[in-house]
Amino acid sequence: MTVSRRNFLAGSALAAAFGPRLASAQAVHPTTWYNWSGHLSCQPAGRYSPGSSSELAEFLRTTSGPVRPVGAGHSFSPLVPTDGHLIVLDRLTGLTGHDARMMQATFGAGTRLGDTGELLESAGQAMFNLPDIDRQTLAGAISTATHGTGIGFQCLSGYVEALELVTAGGEVMEVTRDDTALFDASRVSLGVLGVITSVTFQNRTPYRLKAQNWVQKTEEVLEEFDERAANHRHFEMFPLTHSDYALVLAIDETDEAVNNPPPDPEAEAAFGQAMAYWATLPPKERKPLIDGMAATIEPTSAVDVSHRILTNVRNNRFNEMEYSVPLEAGGECLREILRTIIEAEVDVVFPLEYRYVKRDDTWLGMSSGDEDHAAISIHRTAGADYQPYFELMEPIFLKYGGRPHWGKVHTLKAEQLRSLYPRFDEFSDLRATMDPENRFLNDHLKSVFLG
Ligand SMILES: Cc1cc2nc3c(=O)[nH]c(=O)nc-3n(C[C@H](O)[C@H](O)[C@H](O)COP(=O)(O)OP(=O)(O)OC[C@H]3O[C@@H](n4cnc5c(N)ncnc54)[C@H](O)[C@@H]3O)c2cc1C
Repeated sequence: MTVSRRNFLAGSALAAAFGPRLASAQAVHPTTWYNWSGHLSCQPAGRYSPGSSSELAEFLRTTSGPVRPVGAGHSFSPLVPTDGHLIVLDRLTGLTGHDARMMQATFGAGTRLGDTGELLESAGQAMFNLPDIDRQTLAGAISTATHGTGIGFQCLSGYVEALELVTAGGEVMEVTRDDTALFDASRVSLGVLGVITSVTFQNRTPYRLKAQNWVQKTEEVLEEFDERAANHRHFEMFPLTHSDYALVLAIDETDEAVNNPPPDPEAEAAFGQAMAYWATLPPKERKPLIDGMAATIEPTSAVDVSHRILTNVRNNRFNEMEYSVPLEAGGECLREILRTIIEAEVDVVFPLEYRYVKRDDTWLGMSSGDEDHAAISIHRTAGADYQPYFELMEPIFLKYGGRPHWGKVHTLKAEQLRSLYPRFDEFSDLRATMDPENRFLNDHLKSVFLG
């Protein structure tokens, strides 16, 4: 059987759906808010969708009580749930200005990443990098330090040149590089310093990319990782669980003609069913089957404009934990996680994700500071109980100096976070000054900032 890497990822999600599931179904209420994976929900007092930053400022000045800005709800950590008002920026979208000489462009902060590609193309620009998917809003993505892959690329917040922020008290602030402290704090601010209403990005000229996918033994890839990461524009791998193999992805700039065939739905379905069968077997019996299948995956390649190559469609819902560890600890951390999955017979078929992210100057970015980081993700299909798996892995991430992705599942509170982020206390003090009544804090964020 020959299959593509995409089939493997889609199939593993389907297979995991046969794993342990949460006991109770949640009652659906028409006004209930759910996150993308469906495990977080809330019943907000209302949803407020301003038509301008001055309207939003007026709303914040004339109301009291909790508020939470929400983007596309693609975070797995409970950053959004509130019984106060959700602030939704679906009317503050689109390209609002661009500077051809500086290669910068300004968007309404509610713009989805996936809408920026063509808008920027029309302005002769393109983003330097994008994350794995493009459904997030710009404000939501930068607020959690969302990143793509590539040792040469910072998280998206690293490309922010300016932003507009409406504070809890209803003040509209233009934040630029000149205001160093607020600029470096607000570019990754979890929606606790104010509501971001517009963002200006540093971009470049449009370009085409070639993606190459293949399968290789995880240990071999790890040994070559630094060299490959240095030689390719983007390089990452998806180690398979209970297997010696990883799916490998390298992306480089190219002048080749566009050639990006759509996936074959029949092959995807057939492969998903094969994996669903494996998931019925005890984990320790899966290795020969998964290794056998992995060895048959043929290399593939695709060429397209940058934004169509950098992002994917993820139709299968999951929950995720992601930590970044200092680069030199990445390989050992990943090895220990893969070993533990085998030793503890963790019933998971979803591949991991292993990628590098460049250091940046933000206060709370996962790769902020003076070291590049390796980001490692683990996943569990939505509906399955992710807690036992994630609880087993989180101490391993922490042992290697891991910092949690703000938008993904973690259990850290202020005391631990303070030791991981040198600027954490400065950020907390700034937050308390800008939002003295804690309007922007929900229960999760109280545990993050108040301990
Ligand atoms: C399928 C999938 C793939 C993903 N891939 C990646 C990846 O490759 N790399 C990566 O790093 N992450 C990835 N993520 C995580 C995701 O990028 C982040 O969780 C991101 O924050 C989600 O953006 P959102 O628009 O959905 O924001 P939400 O999840 O709705 O909100 C996230 C945070 O932003 C705040 N916020 C939203 N809007 C505003 C605003 N206007 N002003 C101030 N604060 C605001 C919210 O209050 C909250 O704190 C992925 C998530 C999913 C579901």
